[in-house]
Amino acid sequence: MTPVERFAELLRTHDRIVFFGGAGVSTESKIPDFRGKDGLYRQKTELPWSPEEMLSHHFYEEHPVEFYTLYKEREGMMLQAQPNRAHYALAELERMGKLSAVVTQNIDGLHQKAGSRNVLELHGSVLRNLCQKCGRDYGMEEFLALCTPVPHCPACGGVVKPDVVLYEEPLDGFTIQCAVEEIARADMLIIGGTSLVVYPAAGFIDYFRGDALVLINRDETPRDRSCTMVFRDSVGAVLEEGLRLLKEKR
Ligand code: ZN
Repeated sequence: MTPVERFAELLRTHDRIVFFGGAGVSTESKIPDFRGKDGLYRQKTELPWSPEEMLSHHFYEEHPVEFYTLYKEREGMMLQAQPNRAHYALAELERMGKLSAVVTQNIDGLHQKAGSRNVLELHGSVLRNLCQKCGRDYGMEEFLALCTPVPHCPACGGVVKPDVVLYEEPLDGFTIQCAVEEIARADMLIIGGTSLVVYPAAGFIDYFRGDALVLINRDETPRDRSCTMVFRDSVGAVLEEGLRLLKEKR
């Protein structure tokens, strides 16, 4: 049995699967990991601030023009991005009744675009942009049109803020609770595209009580040894091939 055949067999014998995804899932849709060496923000050497600082809460408060200029560029890139085979495979596993939730550290909304329904976004979503005064929710395109560069709500004049978690901001408590519950109830956990070093998200894995832990990541991670299977490969390639073999067996 090849490793992917073994993976397909795990998919066949489990039906409460949770996928936990990191930046590697989005980079396969050509969205750069902004921390990565080729990240968009590394190219902006003329700016006196680090990307982490520019995406922090205090920077948003103190430099709204620079914050929204950068943010608009980043979100515009996400608007162009299309789901990849990892997103599509996960959406199909959910429709087949195999997968119960996607927990993601990404904010690009590509899982929903591919058809996934139960998506728990630990760091928020670019799909939602909330007026800080009246609470009105603006979609991505509408929001980008309002960014000139600081977006004001046409209804009340309040500032519209993306519903994404900035540095220095806490994660949403309800989303965390749902993610922990899904992982605790899962019989199989697939971790993809993350090196599992960003806390608190990395700690979520400790709630898993199932018997199949599969990790798909290009680089080595601190958790490799505790996994049932490890793939040093593209998340999309492994999920797509696993799903194809699963469907053959059914
Ligand atoms: Zn408003």
